[in-house]
Amino acid sequence: MKLVQVLKTQHTNGTVRVTGTVEYDDGVLEDYWFELPESYTPSSSGNPWLAILLPLAATVGEDLHIPLQVDPALLRGAESVVRLWAYWRKEMHLVNITTGPLEARPFTERTTASFFSAGVDSTFTVLRRPDVKNWITVQGFDMPITKNEAFKHHCERLSAIAAHYQACFIPVRTNIRETRWKKAHWELFAFGPALAAVGLMFEDHFHEILLPASCDYSSLDPWGSHPLSDPLFSTVHTKIIHEGTAYSRTEKIEYLSRDKRALNELHVCFRGEDANGQDNKNCCRCEKCYRTMIALDLFGKLDDAVLFDRSKYQIDRISKIYMGHDIDEVFFLHLHTTALERGRSDIADQISVAMRRSRKIRKLAKFAKLPMVWRPAQALTKHMLRDALK
Ligand SMILES: [Zn+2]
Repeated sequence: MKLVQVLKTQHTNGTVRVTGTVEYDDGVLEDYWFELPESYTPSSSGNPWLAILLPLAATVGEDLHIPLQVDPALLRGAESVVRLWAYWRKEMHLVNITTGPLEARPFTERTTASFFSAGVDSTFTVLRRPDVKNWITVQGFDMPITKNEAFKHHCERLSAIAAHYQACFIPVRTNIRETRWKKAHWELFAFGPALAAVGLMFEDHFHEILLPASCDYSSLDPWGSHPLSDPLFSTVHTKIIHEGTAYSRTEKIEYLSRDKRALNELHVCFRGEDANGQDNKNCCRCEKCYRTMIALDLFGKLDDAVLFDRSKYQIDRISKIYMGHDIDEVFFLHLHTTALERGRSDIADQISVAMRRSRKIRKLAKFAKLPMVWRPAQALTKHMLRDALK
C-alpha cells in the first residue's frame, strides 16, 4: 500500500482536516482523515502516516510506501516494531518500508502532551505529571466517529476539567476505524500506533507525547500499547513515552481518588449506554465499570464518584463478572489482594468465584472452535454467559 497524497483543508468550525489518500495493493483508494484545532499546525511529514498505516500493512502483508520526508529514528523503530509483532503473533507479516527523504524535522518547542479521556490511566498520568499542560482526546477511537452529540458533551466536560488544572484541552477527530484500517486488531496491535500517529500530527508542537499505560509490569503480555512497542514510534525530536507501567490499576484508583475533582469526573466505560461504543456515561453494567466500582468501594470512595450509579452496584453480582482476557484477571487479582488487606472477605470471595467461572468459560470457548464439539461447546458457553457482566 502507499500514501498517494495528503491534503489540508480549513473548516469553518475552527478545525483543520488533514486527509491522506491511501492506495492498497488491489488498487482501491481510501481517505484517512484527522481533524485538529486550527491553532495547531499539523505535521506535513510522513511520520504520522507511517505510524498509522504500519499495523494495517503488517496485518494484511502489504509493503508500505510513504513518499514524504520521514524521520530516520522512526523508520528504524518501525522496522523493529513489525519484527516484535511477528514475534508476538505468527499471523503478522514483516513488511518492507520505503519512504521519501530520511530527515529529522527542525524543532524548537520543548513541551509535553498527554492523551486524556478522564479514565483511570490518563487521569492518574496527568495528576502525577502536573507539569504536563496539553491534554489530547480523540473521537474515532473508543468513541465512535458517529457519536457527535456524545463527543460534544464529553468535550465540554473534559475541557472544564483541563481548565481546572490549568491545562490546554485538544480535541481530535479521525475516521480511521471506519476504513480498511479496522482489519488491524485494535487491542492486540493497533491502538498504540494510532495514539502515536495522532501525537505525531502535533510533532511541530510537542517534544514528548505520553501514552498512559493500560497494564503494569505484572501483566505485560503482548498488547496494542506496550512499553516495548510505543517508544519505537518516537522521532529524533518527539519521544513517544509509555507512561505509568510501574503502577497497578488499583494503585492508580487509590491515588486519583484522593483528588475530589478527578474522582467526580472519572469516566471509564467504553461500552456506552447503548452497548454500542463509548459515550459520555459509565454504563455501570460492564466488567470495566464494575471493577472500577469495586476498587472505589474498597477505598471508601464510591459514593463520591458521581458518574457511577451506586444503585447498580451489588456485591453479590461480582461473581457474575466475566474476565475475557488474562489481562483482566490480573486486574482482579490486585483487587482480591486489596479486598483481603482491607478486611472485605465478602468482595474477595465473590472475586474468587468470578475468576474460577471465567477460567472455565475461557477454556470452553477454545472447544467452541474445534470440529465435532463446537456446537455443544458454543451452546454451553452462551448459556454460562447469559447473565454475565462483561
Ligand atoms: Zn461500562
